[in-house]
Amino acid sequence: MFEYAPAPESRSVVDIAPSYGLFINGTFEAPGSTGGVFKTVNPATEEVLAEVSAAGSEDVDRAVAAARSAFGPWSALPGAERAKYLFRIARIIQERSRELAVLESLDNGKPIKESRDVDLPLVAAHFFYYAGWADKLEYAGFGASPRPIGVAAQVIPWNFPLLMLAWKIAPALATGNTVVLKPAETTPLTALFFADICRQADLPPGVVNIITGAGETGRTLVEHPGVDKVAFTGSTEVGRQIARSVAGTGKRLTLELGGKAANIVFDDAPIDQAVEGIVNGIFFNQGHVCCAGSRLLVQESAYDEVMESLKRRMATLRLGDPLDKNTDIGAINSAEQLERIRVLTDAGSQEGAERWSPPCELPAQGFWFAPTIFTGVTQAHRIAREEIFGPVLSVLTFRTPAEAIEKANNTPYGLSAGIWSEKGSLILAVADKLRAGVIWANTFNKFDPTSPFGGYKESGYGREGGRHGLEAYLG
Ligand code: NAP
Ligand code: MG
Repeated sequence: MFEYAPAPESRSVVDIAPSYGLFINGTFEAPGSTGGVFKTVNPATEEVLAEVSAAGSEDVDRAVAAARSAFGPWSALPGAERAKYLFRIARIIQERSRELAVLESLDNGKPIKESRDVDLPLVAAHFFYYAGWADKLEYAGFGASPRPIGVAAQVIPWNFPLLMLAWKIAPALATGNTVVLKPAETTPLTALFFADICRQADLPPGVVNIITGAGETGRTLVEHPGVDKVAFTGSTEVGRQIARSVAGTGKRLTLELGGKAANIVFDDAPIDQAVEGIVNGIFFNQGHVCCAGSRLLVQESAYDEVMESLKRRMATLRLGDPLDKNTDIGAINSAEQLERIRVLTDAGSQEGAERWSPPCELPAQGFWFAPTIFTGVTQAHRIAREEIFGPVLSVLTFRTPAEAIEKANNTPYGLSAGIWSEKGSLILAVADKLRAGVIWANTFNKFDPTSPFGGYKESGYGREGGRHGLEAYLG
């Protein structure tokens, strides 16, 4: 194999301040003015990037109050006026996309080629898409004069920090709501840069408030009595707690939670494309993807061929510096997540599955995990049941479509699935029986702002994206 010469993206395109305050009512407050502070690090090097404020309950009060006073005037604006702000934000994101992509890779550890070519274009597309809806809400199918809900509390995870922000903020603003958003503790920086973009776009103060902090800040925010709507993306465990705390309060709730998707390969599938889809399904974003194709179901008659090409393909994946444009697999987002991946993969070996990784040198600093597959996995194994949220694939086999469907649905989750076959009729028949919110056919991990996304069962409820995504923000 060729060794690639390093092709690093320049770090100097982004200017990170030593510390950041909360963004409330259109201004950045002094860092740590009321609560404490915490550090955010680059997971590829463990270098401290900045110090960030931890919002306490008084900060949450102020942020919710700012969103409340902004709600009246913002919701009274004609939709076409709100659209102007959203279009402006979308254009500024495009103009600053290189800076934001580098920042996202620094704070999250994901390869620059993903933040540059996937995250940032989708973030801008989301704002453009919902800007287009802002003046057409009465034609969206939710009544003749749909009304916004009020103040939305939004809590997001660390795997797609800016993209999850876009999924939350764009539809909320288009429909006339105001928001208080809390990014994840380990990836707060792009949300804080987004706050600056709101200022640059002259967004009225209080329409968007960004408060940083850990899980406790998130809990205080969703439990705040001044909040009308809660939108959460994260783990099923925290989602359950939130559902409990919101029950009986009259707050509206949408939950986007975990997944354990089946990627089903029939023996008539185009094997080379399927292998690309398998690799993209589980190694994209280090497998930190809620809809990752983490369970590969291969028809027995194609098993040897699929496994042989999959291993050959995995041996060409380049792991390393996220800012290098040739990198395929970046850093694991945090020491905690790395530990979780280790515990689950150790369980895989202990329970008798066979583990394989291509030869792969891991950098000495930072948090890294080699791309890994487990074969001989049975449905009872933890690695077949629990979400690993890392670059780890569990391989199972099947003989008939009925067996594939049964195994694919044998999970408490239901977020996504993939089907690979030459036969359209087989794809449609299988898709019809899978209990999953998104099903890809002969592709995987394709996203578009016009397409609704969301889960069945323990993967949550409500839909984000598309026309359906408006419903969560309309009363
Ligand atoms: P997490 O621990 O549930 O955290 C998600 C967010 O909630 C973070 O901002 C977190 O703050 C905050 N939080 C923690 N405890 C809270 C509480 N008691 N009340 C309110 N907020 C709280 O999940 P994660 O480990 O960051 O993310 C991985 C999970 O997200 C995976 O299960 C993945 O499948 C899921 N996910 C789902 C989707 C989807 O669309 N369905 C998309 C992406 C990810 P801290 O950062 O400080 O912990
Ligand atoms: Mg970080």
